Amino acid sequence: MSSVFIISAPSGSGKSTLVEKVRKVVPGLEFSVSYTTRQPRGREQNGREYFFVSRETFEQMKQNDEFLEYAEVFGNGYGTAKRFFEQAKQSGHDLLLDIDVQGAAQIKRKLPDAVTIFVLPPDRKTLELRLRNRSLDKEEVIQRRLVTAHREIEKYREYDYILINDRLEESIAALKAILLAERIKRAGTEPVAADNETLAKAESCRLRNIAARVQPIVASFAVAAAPGG
Ligand code: ADP
Ligand code: 5GP
Repeated sequence: MSSVFIISAPSGSGKSTLVEKVRKVVPGLEFSVSYTTRQPRGREQNGREYFFVSRETFEQMKQNDEFLEYAEVFGNGYGTAKRFFEQAKQSGHDLLLDIDVQGAAQIKRKLPDAVTIFVLPPDRKTLELRLRNRSLDKEEVIQRRLVTAHREIEKYREYDYILINDRLEESIAALKAILLAERIKRAGTEPVAADNETLAKAESCRLRNIAARVQPIVASFAVAAAPGG
């Protein structure tokens, strides 16, 4: 296994959409399919987006030490199975994890070289719209996700890269650039001319280069959370 990439985002930001698209255009990238106790949503299939298991099975897996990390999110259990790391290591592929901020912090402690990417919506209103348009959750669930989004967004500084998911095509290109740029850097060879665009695109998503654009997004969540907001 060359690299571990962790991608986190408030629910509804478009992370699953981005991950699905980027898996098709970046070769040598394996995806860690998490275990969850939640019910399948929309067209999700067992073994593709998640392994959907009962609470009993999930607790048994915890007991058996089968998870590299696990967390409770929106009242359901989610866990990353250790076996995906073993498989990726053996095949020499990169591994992409789609996990929440708690899981990302746990993995980063165990694997400090893991590259972390945080996906943000352009603002709170857009996030709300995307959650509603997806129309897979009840109103009460949407409200809970918006409150949690505010808490999660405040963790953005713990990530290496920030991806503001405004226009989808641009976001896919940026995510692809981040993955490829890390490969170029880890190869340790002198980048060729064709790599420069990729490296520059990835660099523009580095926390230090994008922090100013993140401020108003974080502020849009803080205003909504204030009394009367
Ligand atoms: P997440 O995995 O972060 O919870 P999804 O990938 O399910 O989010 O996306 C939430 C909704 O927003 C979906 O209906 C998706 O089609 C839509 N969406 C994702 N990215 C964009 C984008 N850049 N512009 C507009 N809509 C988007
Ligand atoms: P959803 O139910 O919308 O698919 O996911 C809810 C949240 O759980 C998202 O933030 C997602 O990244 C996170 N998640 C999915 N799988 C895992 C996992 O294995 N571990 C952790 N910690 N979080 C996960």
